[in-house]
Amino acid sequence: MSDTYPLSNLAAIDAAHHLHPFSDMKKLNADGTRIIQRGEGVHIFDSHGKKYLDGFAGLWCVNIGYGRKEIADAVAKQMNELPYYNTFFGTTSSPTTLLAEKVTSKAGPRFNHIFFTGSGSEANDTWFRMARVYWAAVGKPQKKTVIARRNGYHGSTVAGASLGGMKYMHEQGDLPIPGIVHIGQPYWYGEGGDLTPAEFGLKVARELEAKIDELGEENVAAFVAEPIQGAAGVIIPPETYWPEIDRICKARNILLVTDEVICGFGRLGEWFGHQYFGVEPDFAPIAKGLSSGYLPIGGVLVSDRIADVLINEVGDFNHGFTYSGHPVCAAAALENLRIIEEEKLVERVRDDIGLYFAKKWGALAEHDFVGEAESIGLMGGLQLAADKKTRTRFEKPDPIGSLVRNHALANGLVLRATGDRMLASPPLVIRHEEVDEMARIAKLALDAAWKELRA
Ligand SMILES: *Cc1c(COP(=O)(O)O)cnc(C)c1O
Repeated sequence: MSDTYPLSNLAAIDAAHHLHPFSDMKKLNADGTRIIQRGEGVHIFDSHGKKYLDGFAGLWCVNIGYGRKEIADAVAKQMNELPYYNTFFGTTSSPTTLLAEKVTSKAGPRFNHIFFTGSGSEANDTWFRMARVYWAAVGKPQKKTVIARRNGYHGSTVAGASLGGMKYMHEQGDLPIPGIVHIGQPYWYGEGGDLTPAEFGLKVARELEAKIDELGEENVAAFVAEPIQGAAGVIIPPETYWPEIDRICKARNILLVTDEVICGFGRLGEWFGHQYFGVEPDFAPIAKGLSSGYLPIGGVLVSDRIADVLINEVGDFNHGFTYSGHPVCAAAALENLRIIEEEKLVERVRDDIGLYFAKKWGALAEHDFVGEAESIGLMGGLQLAADKKTRTRFEKPDPIGSLVRNHALANGLVLRATGDRMLASPPLVIRHEEVDEMARIAKLALDAAWKELRA
């Protein structure tokens, strides 16, 4: 492309024709899009040749890092052999079926089936329908309502955005759709008040119990949550939270859904987030790290309890996507999982680099500008605070994080900002010295933003 269109023109063409997701388009068109041209390991390079350490793994997804030729080769081979076929009418392709076996083998004994989708949003739409179909099939058709959380993120389709608890998304397009209600989030720093984290974790978990009582257990299908809230700012729940949620779901006979789109595939140092927290979900939507983002593919892990009913009672589940189990995407995912296994990336996060990252990222909490800096595995959240001693947040949190992010970018590090929180999620292959580099630039960016704010 760059031969035909000089890169200087590309930004103008982009401004003229391309609408970007989650972007202030007027501002973006004025500022000009950054054009990312190449990736290698944990680094990306823009059209000016500037190199960045990608502390965010693309969008939480490039778990094995950029530029892995093995994936390109596996994709080319499959592309030449069979570029596409569907899974609808009694057919499959070998990478698709082998991927089903491989993924479920990592998800523990409760999961033996997967339903493939093209994305994480579609995965959430899929279990949302499947849960209702399940309850109808076992004679409880009124169990329909799904409970989700404020500031959860479950994608951008109509059901996904409704399940999500982002106010700024609900405001556009009349969401949430009926049958979805939200409870509080385990965000101790922001909302815990005088409670200890442990007390607060129990308190928010018990909002689930109260909501089930209010709606009537006979009307509630499921509860959905990310093991760790991602888009909300990498909010790590207090230790008391997940065991209590698990207990409540079991006691009240409602399905538990852990949205593993970020936490899956090694990010927390286990294959899946539910394994890290020791809970027993009925569904687990997945995507992102499934193919390390090399090609779009997602799915829903379906527990035996549900799969048995779907197979033996429901028969036909009238749902599916043209690209459900796309053979080329499946080939990319299979190769990705082979690499994760062979290079022991999950164990590496758990026993080595995740611990090192925790030390370096955690040390940023010493900064005057930082209220707390936490991580599990290679997923880190950092709270910016106006006054760290009193746990006081900024009155207008919104542009605060972007200040830090922009300084980090200028210094060659990609971090994400959500309001007054900084988010990190580097590729699982990141080396120790690259973690040092991340921490060094993050500190620089904090210094610069802090200075700017106080001026
Ligand atoms: C990214 C994300 C999704 C949506 O996935 P898409 O592939 O963008 O549709 C859903 N849930 C969580 C937790 C996510 O982070």
